[in-house]
Amino acid sequence: MPRDGSVPGCAPLGNSAQRVGKKWMDGARRLRVHHVLCLPLYRGNGYSDAFCENMEQTTRWLREYPDEPVLAVCEPDMVCAGCPNLTAWNGCRSSGRSVDEKDRNLARLFGICPGQKYTWQELLDLAGKNLTAAEFEASCRNCEWYGKGLCSYEKWKDSAQI
Ligand code: SF4
Repeated sequence: MPRDGSVPGCAPLGNSAQRVGKKWMDGARRLRVHHVLCLPLYRGNGYSDAFCENMEQTTRWLREYPDEPVLAVCEPDMVCAGCPNLTAWNGCRSSGRSVDEKDRNLARLFGICPGQKYTWQELLDLAGKNLTAAEFEASCRNCEWYGKGLCSYEKWKDSAQI
């Protein structure tokens, strides 16, 4: 894995200062890759009231604007912005760096390049084309919501209407 966390086959991301100087600060909404799985499966369960409120706003926005470009990332995004596990240094108190790794593995599988813009529909299409039940399980099996039976490959296919 490249040291800056880039995904093989995609342009290098550079360090955070270089990203700030490029397209990363242009105001585009950011979406971390594994949230392409989580968002269609959201049914009101979350880490806090603020988290749930933000999830509802995010899912509503994506449904209303499926053709609006969002920036694919492997780091905290518009969903994490409402999460009590987001640390002051932009990390995840709950999953540490393993969540970034989950994003990169799925980005590689889906053919999504972090730092590139995609519409919500394009992200769903790429995931739908490349995700398998085994890959879903490999990616999600350690997640609390998977353990509670709220998420599965079949439910995702239904919810994402792929
Ligand atoms: S199991 Fe966890 S990571 Fe997987 S889709 Fe559900 S909430 Fe997201």
